[in-house]
Amino acid sequence: MAGTLEDTLSDVFGFAQFRGKQRSAVESVMSGKDTFVLKPTGGGKSLCYQLPGIVLQGTAIVVSPLIALMDDQVQGLVQMGIRAAALNSSLDWEEQLTIQQQLERGQLDLLYVSPERAVTDRFLQLASRVEISLFAVDEAHCVSQWGHDFRPEYMQLQRLWEAAPSVPRMALTATADSRTQQDIIERLPLRSPEIVQSSFDRPNIKYHVVVKNNAKRQLLDFLETHHRGDSGIVYAQTRARTEKIADFLRKNGWNAFHYHAGMPPEERAKVGRDFVREEKMVVVATIAFGMGIDKSNVRFVAHMDMPKSLEAYYQETGRAGRDGLPANAWMAYGLKDVVGLRLLASTSQAPLEIRKREDRKLQQMLGFCETASCRRKLLLNYFDEQTAESCGYCCNCDSPPETWDATVPAQKLLSCCFRTGQRYGAGYLIELLLGKETPRAQQNNHLTLSVFGIGQELSEKEWMSLVRQLVAGHFLVPAADGHGGLQLGPEAAPLLKGETTLQVRKDSAKPRRSSRKKEAVPASWSDESSSDLWEQLRDLRLQLARKQEIPPYMIFHDSTLREMVELRPTSLTEFGHLNGVGKTKLERYGDAFLQAIRHFCVAGDSEASAGIARIHS
Ligand code: ADP
Ligand code: ZN
Repeated sequence: MAGTLEDTLSDVFGFAQFRGKQRSAVESVMSGKDTFVLKPTGGGKSLCYQLPGIVLQGTAIVVSPLIALMDDQVQGLVQMGIRAAALNSSLDWEEQLTIQQQLERGQLDLLYVSPERAVTDRFLQLASRVEISLFAVDEAHCVSQWGHDFRPEYMQLQRLWEAAPSVPRMALTATADSRTQQDIIERLPLRSPEIVQSSFDRPNIKYHVVVKNNAKRQLLDFLETHHRGDSGIVYAQTRARTEKIADFLRKNGWNAFHYHAGMPPEERAKVGRDFVREEKMVVVATIAFGMGIDKSNVRFVAHMDMPKSLEAYYQETGRAGRDGLPANAWMAYGLKDVVGLRLLASTSQAPLEIRKREDRKLQQMLGFCETASCRRKLLLNYFDEQTAESCGYCCNCDSPPETWDATVPAQKLLSCCFRTGQRYGAGYLIELLLGKETPRAQQNNHLTLSVFGIGQELSEKEWMSLVRQLVAGHFLVPAADGHGGLQLGPEAAPLLKGETTLQVRKDSAKPRRSSRKKEAVPASWSDESSSDLWEQLRDLRLQLARKQEIPPYMIFHDSTLREMVELRPTSLTEFGHLNGVGKTKLERYGDAFLQAIRHFCVAGDSEASAGIARIHS
């Protein structure tokens, strides 16, 4: 085998260097060891088995749970000139036979196979006959019941190992949860694996959380400010809401579609396919949309409702920015989310232990929403990564929220709740504190209460904000009758007795504009000429992709396109040095893109020199 690993990396993939421990993973499996690769989404897991698959003698068998994902991967590899194929139920008999023959003749570097297919007698016989370089199990968390996508078929994979017991196994996952990680090693199983773990930080994702105040409008403002012309995902909790929000975005000029489990399968598949293949598209979805959507240039993920846990939040926001370019994770949450989820937890029929665990997760999610300090730090700490440093560019780092001492108003509110029998909702309690003589208050005989009208120092909005934070902090909980009222929670007593004080964050009245200069990498072009060239190259890419019926990113990732705009290569040699341009792609597309760049530069020359003259005058 000629050349170093770096040579293959650059010739085939067009990458200048390994990213975050890829080399360790590659070397480990190439030395014959079972290897467990833990990397966040977008961390470059696939390369960890693809590269050994190319270099080693024999075929790498890759178990992958989703047909769409598998086909995408194979198309992408074929674009790079790699000998790859996929065996799954979408093929007809003849196609299957062809792949089988290629495998038997040793003509494949990589074969993707679904877990169901991998354990059929037919495939097992085949596997015991041919030369296999390694087994890779993608999305390995599917073997664990603790994980979020348990797949019973993964439990059967033992049979596949038996077909070639001496072949090293590699498992890969983006699951940051240590319990699931342990489970994977035991169940798969991996034999004294080398564990290659990278940080779960996603430095190119910027986290924003806002308090709901007409959430659709807030979303629109955010998208208009940061994401004109981008693709992204908006998550909402219910099917009806996904439809409404998509409708709203469309009316405001966005190319938006809804997606949920209640749609006919063909319609869903179409939205998923279009999203991957087209540019400038927004999908408003329930959580049913996500895994299996392999699109590298998702520029934002928005949550219109709070997810149930930080694992879910991390997983969903992780779909943004797989290409490493700047991306935003934006979330709006409010009192209803907090009370609603709490109520759901308290009325759940699940066993106590599970309910407790879910409640703890909810609590941690709320803590993330309400925190006044660095959101990234909190997220990483949650996944047992201790970082002392604040990131400097999440929304809290960007403009630190003010906090205030809410001890006295909180006592007033809790005692108002207590004196009215612990069964009314936030709205009514606030009316009483503000001294509103409503018919309902009259009827209930509440006008004479000592707490009536003692809360005029805060506005209704400020009270709402306080209630939300009291629910988040377990000072208030949904009333036991489940009708949306509130009762005192476990933390209320010490506060009422004056044994503790309470600091809460001030909700900002206006959406805070983040300063662009602090972004990790600039999100948009500062000069017009670059952004014009960018658009033209994107267009060219889309045309080429449509002709071959493949997603645009398979031709070149956005990051490669960005380099073209920044460096404006003038020869094939220069073009070949761009990140993401390997030999095959250079041959296939180099001329077309070079020509477009040359054409643009010549056409733009007169304008550009006029611009420079203006600057100098
Ligand atoms: P994951 O499966 O971990 O989510 P992928 O394997 O899809 O991540 O890789 C994410 C992106 O990073 C892809 O666009 C891939 O081409 C790119 N990538 C992977 N390794 C490198 C590298 N060494 N240098 C540059 N880009 C890389
Ligand atoms: Zn931060």
